[in-house]
Amino acid sequence: MREIKKRKSFLHLARMKPLDFVILGILLVLSFVPLGVFTYQESQKSSVTLRAEISVDGKEIKRLNLDKDTTYKYQASDGDYNVIVVKDHKIRITEANCNDQICVRRGWIEKSGESIVCLPHKLVVSIVSSDGSEDGSLIY
Ligand SMILES: [Zn+2]
Repeated sequence: MREIKKRKSFLHLARMKPLDFVILGILLVLSFVPLGVFTYQESQKSSVTLRAEISVDGKEIKRLNLDKDTTYKYQASDGDYNVIVVKDHKIRITEANCNDQICVRRGWIEKSGESIVCLPHKLVVSIVSSDGSEDGSLIY
């Protein structure tokens, strides 16, 4: 008789209680949360468009959408020039008549917050995101 009673209580313990299913369910949902967050961030990333702002001596002279391949030539009245090329969501200065050529050597930039500076021409190319998420992009 004793043996049977023991076995019964063991079976009772082994059986899952309704609460266990709730916990299991929560754990199952939680295990998908990182995936969900990742997918959400990915979708956010693709919906944000980047643009390049070109300024000379602190004044914005041109905005370029990085979604569209284009070539823009900045030409100053004193003969200074910079050829700015947008290709495959990236931007670079391909040609300039400045004496240091640092802006040309800088190469491609593609991320929000990155910039190319041509010190002799006081020209700055900086990338900003369309949703204004970049720090300082809304403060003037
Ligand atoms: Zn330069």
